[in-house]
Amino acid sequence: MDFYTGNVLRLDLSALRASVEPLNAEWARLFVGGKGLLLRYLFEELVPGADALAPENPLILATGPFAGTLAATCSRLAVGCKSPATGALLDSYVGGSFAPELKFAGYDLVVITGRAPEPVLVRITDDQVEFVPAAGRYWGLETAPLEELIRKEMGPGAKVLSTGPAGENLVPFACLSTDQFHKAGRGGAGAVMGSKNLKAVAVRGTGAVTVGDAAAFTRDILTLQNERVLTADNAWTYEEGTPFLVEAVNGAGALPTRNWRTGAFDGAGTIGSAALLRIRTKIRACTQCPLACRQVHAFEGYVCEGPEFETLGLCGSNCGISDLAAIAAFNRECDELGLDTMSTGAVVALAMDLCEQGAAAYGLRFGDIDAYLEAPRLIATRQGLGAELALGARDLAALKGRPDLASEVKGLEMPAYDPRGTFGMGLGYATSDRGACHMRAFTAGDDILGGDGAADSLAGKARLVVDQQDFSAVAWTGVWCANMALDTDFLGVHFGHLWGRETSHEELMTIGARIWNLGRLLNLREGLGRDDDRLPERILNVPHPDGVAAGKVVGAAAFRESLDEYYRLRGWDDEGVPSRDTLSRLSLAELGHGL
Ligand code: SF4
Repeated sequence: MDFYTGNVLRLDLSALRASVEPLNAEWARLFVGGKGLLLRYLFEELVPGADALAPENPLILATGPFAGTLAATCSRLAVGCKSPATGALLDSYVGGSFAPELKFAGYDLVVITGRAPEPVLVRITDDQVEFVPAAGRYWGLETAPLEELIRKEMGPGAKVLSTGPAGENLVPFACLSTDQFHKAGRGGAGAVMGSKNLKAVAVRGTGAVTVGDAAAFTRDILTLQNERVLTADNAWTYEEGTPFLVEAVNGAGALPTRNWRTGAFDGAGTIGSAALLRIRTKIRACTQCPLACRQVHAFEGYVCEGPEFETLGLCGSNCGISDLAAIAAFNRECDELGLDTMSTGAVVALAMDLCEQGAAAYGLRFGDIDAYLEAPRLIATRQGLGAELALGARDLAALKGRPDLASEVKGLEMPAYDPRGTFGMGLGYATSDRGACHMRAFTAGDDILGGDGAADSLAGKARLVVDQQDFSAVAWTGVWCANMALDTDFLGVHFGHLWGRETSHEELMTIGARIWNLGRLLNLREGLGRDDDRLPERILNVPHPDGVAAGKVVGAAAFRESLDEYYRLRGWDDEGVPSRDTLSRLSLAELGHGL
């Protein structure tokens, strides 16, 4: 089976038993890999209605068929489960080198079920799988020392996917970490790993991935690399990385500032790309990636990758912090403790707002660095103010009687593009399968970062969001990185080798739509529906007082209309349920029974 190993490793933690089963070939045909296979296995393995932190919620690690080959950026790993932050599906992606190593060890997917009776570490060396007691040696360690220890024991080539103290303490926005600075950040997969008493999965592999006609594949990949990857369109990745977005998004009035009170931050110049380039020491890359977007910076006493744009926005401007070293220190704390920087920054900004509004007394203030820097550790350990902040924005705001101050969708804190400065992002957040997310549909690329879209209109955005969601779904079967300019021609060259035949734009987009609808079925089964496809009240109705987007709101009526149009284009009814015709067209009919 070229490109695939053909094996799924199943880890039953309750029984401390490992077994290998063949990859479901029919599912691989329909859902390919990465996001698609992850959701198909999740649909099967998740006990409907199970609590996200219960043993009945599986944790799934999925590679793409091109992991372990030369295909650019396809070394990414998809991680999935039911999210403890949202109760919806979660698929989260992480770069680095774990996915190729898993393929070299002989596995396309790992399905982790149950809960270990005591904390364990799983060590995989090709077909050898060990459950190692973790208490006293690994449990409680922060992410970098844990990786270092495991590499000492297994050899420098070992790849580690781990949860930090935040995940052990079941913080719903705990992330998974690999290669020290790489995070499957969003949605709380770290808490699901922690709930299973699993500290980490470490892997060494000595095998290889076969690609059929290796000469033809290599020739095509190298041609793409020269003509489509190392191009002017992608040069921003290695020249500046994502921090270039700070000033661009701020210039559009969409940079979250002081808990989303406005979209214009006076200190944007001090936390943006120009400031970071002055302290950049080198650039690094994930395995298989010639773009090397990972910017390494030297701060006093600390060298790190990042901060990335989302961290600069949500932990910087949104907290009123313009001190780059302080943001990097906050970022480092989150990384070591295994916290998603995006949600942590959003929650701390909310807590600052609650204090300023007199609804809480945490001692946090916009722009005040001391208390800000202490917050991640308190959250990860659920001590002091952390006991309440660890609830996440939605539940914290509700607890304090100010749900209007939380900027989230389905319980996931919003990314750093304020929809009042780029309306289409609002529809993308509302309809995203995992809660507010900029990685499913990124309409900002068409209205505030180039293109000719109108930032302050939802006209035409429903079509754009549907197309971008379907495209991202098929791209993440690969699993390609969203930082690279992609289209179906580019993907099609790879799929041509995978399937040994020509592909078309329509065929690939149908796969994307199939995966998107499968996710919808999963979310409907978990009790989500139209009421969850919403935007926060302030995004709909409360304008910014200043900045380029001053005075603009998405508007409740316009949003409703756009959501209706989105459902129509998807072939869903008024409640967001896929029609029988839609499911049949996408070969999903058998999964829609009972809706
Ligand atoms: S563009 Fe950056 S994040 Fe994406 S695969 Fe390459 S190095 Fe990793």
